[in-house]
Amino acid sequence: MSAKDNDNPGNSPPDAVDGSGASSGDTRDNRPRSMRSFLVHGRPRTGLWDFSHHVVPPISSSSTFRLESSERGATGFCGFAEPATHDFHKTPIYIYERLDEPTRAMLEDQIAEAEGGSMGIAFASGMGAIAAAVGILVHHGDEVIAHRTLYGCTYSLLTNWMPRFGVSSKYIDLVNLNELEEAIGPKTRVVYFETPVNPTLDLIDLAGVTRIVKSANRGRSPEERIHVVVDNTFASPRCQRPLEFGVNLVVHSLTKNLCGFGTEMGGIVVGPRSYESDLLLFRKDFGATLASKAAWPILVYGLPTLDIRMKREQENARRIADFLADHPKVARVVYPGRDDFPQADLARRQMKDFDGNFAPGNMVYFVLKGDDQEAWRRARAMVDHVAKHAYTVTLAVSLGQVRTLIEMPSSMTHAVVPEEAQVAGHIDPGGLRLAVGVEEVDDILLDLDEALTKS
Ligand SMILES: *Cc1c(COP(=O)(O)O)cnc(C)c1O
Repeated sequence: MSAKDNDNPGNSPPDAVDGSGASSGDTRDNRPRSMRSFLVHGRPRTGLWDFSHHVVPPISSSSTFRLESSERGATGFCGFAEPATHDFHKTPIYIYERLDEPTRAMLEDQIAEAEGGSMGIAFASGMGAIAAAVGILVHHGDEVIAHRTLYGCTYSLLTNWMPRFGVSSKYIDLVNLNELEEAIGPKTRVVYFETPVNPTLDLIDLAGVTRIVKSANRGRSPEERIHVVVDNTFASPRCQRPLEFGVNLVVHSLTKNLCGFGTEMGGIVVGPRSYESDLLLFRKDFGATLASKAAWPILVYGLPTLDIRMKREQENARRIADFLADHPKVARVVYPGRDDFPQADLARRQMKDFDGNFAPGNMVYFVLKGDDQEAWRRARAMVDHVAKHAYTVTLAVSLGQVRTLIEMPSSMTHAVVPEEAQVAGHIDPGGLRLAVGVEEVDDILLDLDEALTKS
């Protein structure tokens, strides 16, 4: 059934989601626009929901949907299992919230566009999205190649749970692309990494990885193909769009930069349409669906402010990185925007804002002076001082919100990573991770200086 055959009485205004549908004389969707404006306005008319008189998209808050006829219900169910048979992006048939619903669909559509993908499927958390992205790509006996330093729960997913389903993981240093060439084997199905790497901010060459994987895929059948999956949570689409470099799927924790205020949890997988049906079915059956009430604040507050928040946070991060680099208690600062960043050229090649300007992001990593034990003790003392006395800096995990957060990876977020792996992955005992917020930068510097001086 095509979109045209379906008169879809319930929930679709005349304009199609891509603006190419029957003309209503409203050409707003076709005008050239910057991503910055798109993130504020989204699509003025969308087939996803009839809200042509709302200025702000409504929260759809219905776990089930009225169907006009058994035929419409049947079309909806068939179309869900086999999306090719019905164009849901023009005339969705909503059935049940876990399958698909309009508020979340608007969010998915907008983030997909920002990442340069053609579809996005949103999950209840970043981990829900990561589990789905890996889950749809592997079968029993397959292997995942991952960078040796990963978000702690991703590492746990790959080492503690995937082996139960017969899926093994191999950890290599993807900063060194030769290791990838050597590691790829007949059972490899996924290459998975974050860039910038959490928490050390090492960068992995997106174009370099996809070049190697493309050449390894030559002669492989579709079932044997290797897919590249990148966690783009740290940079957000505002600072980096991995799909432009040939990556197959991008995953995000929406909880971070895309929500931006620290109020919601969510995750998303973005990529080409060919992965959509498996992702929808995986989400339907494993059930980690993003609730409409969590999708709405991200759509209405998070995305419209993404660019302006990250611009400000990036300016602050640069000032903070320079301040720390000159501080007598600090051994080393890692910030992709500094000239002494070891991969400065690569940073400039792949971290760019929507206008193509260099966009090194809002994360800073730094290491305190002293041997491992002393640096570790000082880092503890510093974060404890922050916890008790700082005004603008908060001791907390997470990142990408308007408040500046500090955490100590070796004893907090990356504590599950075994000590040898921490050492190999350059997670220093005295390392600290700053997720910079939008506060007045001089206030942040004052808080950091005081905590450093007292540690
Ligand atoms: C937070 C985070 C995740 C997990 O996301 P949740 O929303 O907490 O499930 C994955 N990757 C990175 C890089 C993160 O920072």
